[in-house]
Amino acid sequence: MDQRQIDLPGMLGDARDAKEAHEYGKGADVHSRGELHMHMNGAIPTSTIREILADEATVLPAGFEFERDLVRATPCQSLAEYLTPWQALRLFPRKRENLDRLTFAVVAGLAENNVRFVELRSSVLYLAQLQKCSPAQALERLIESTRVAALRHGIRRGLILTVTRGDYSAVNLSTLLQAYQDLGEPKDVIGLDLAGDEETAYPKELPSLFREAKDRFDLGITIHAGETGRVENVRSAVELFGADRIGHGTAAGKDPDVLELLSARDICVEVCPISNRLTGAVPANEAHPLQQFWRYGVPFVICSDNPAIHQRGLADDQAAAMAEGLSIGDMRQQYEVAKRYSFMKDLI
Ligand SMILES: [Zn+2]
Repeated sequence: MDQRQIDLPGMLGDARDAKEAHEYGKGADVHSRGELHMHMNGAIPTSTIREILADEATVLPAGFEFERDLVRATPCQSLAEYLTPWQALRLFPRKRENLDRLTFAVVAGLAENNVRFVELRSSVLYLAQLQKCSPAQALERLIESTRVAALRHGIRRGLILTVTRGDYSAVNLSTLLQAYQDLGEPKDVIGLDLAGDEETAYPKELPSLFREAKDRFDLGITIHAGETGRVENVRSAVELFGADRIGHGTAAGKDPDVLELLSARDICVEVCPISNRLTGAVPANEAHPLQQFWRYGVPFVICSDNPAIHQRGLADDQAAAMAEGLSIGDMRQQYEVAKRYSFMKDLI
């Protein structure tokens, strides 16, 4: 581990050039951006959530306080604390029109950050449950809703289907892929994602199911790995799941062998600097591993993960990356880097 640590008294503490980062975050340096790691339900503005919950007469869980529990803007004590907002986020949208409403709000937030293309992650099976429809119908609704919203804002978008780690992950992946096939393998779907608590076991056939889907449907694979300290998950994401990209991968920063593996195989790490500080994936007294990625030639792209939960946007994450030691020159290259590693074909 490199000893050159950056003092980070706060999220955007002593930047190499704090003024530069500050102005960057304020949009003084406006340029096009690409977003490769963003969860749709973590990107819905609080005001939109409030409207939808009211419209659907949703009762929040006992003890859940909207103002206190829906936003995560300061570092959390645990991953569980960080995930508290999902107690409410998993309760909607039950109405079709509210899917459209939230999608428009999510895409509008991207437009404000000058995002030109985005890979949106969503758990379609949750949507099917909420909307009381089949997975294929839920996927079709998601495709249509995001297509209209993206067109309105002149943004290119692709969909990544997220599977959550756990006993049912293999069954759920098969169900999602069946829905995808039922719809004629729409081009809107560009990839698969594995998310969830890395301490949770998954069925032994899961990695081969991901690899088969990659080979058969030409879908990109991204795996949340090494976010909670288990560097071996980064290696298995690459070697077993056939990952093209790694979500977070913070643990890799301390393992030269894994850094070399990522570099040699040209695996891009989706770095979410604000999220990493809020979840504790990168402790307050440690430098962010993106400096190690840079040194080892590991490609990385700055992403926002759950921008509405953080009350920030991709521009803020890029400013945070500068506060963690990157230069404005690095940031200016990010659009091209995101294009290169995007699962969307034919981005110009
Ligand atoms: Zn994520």
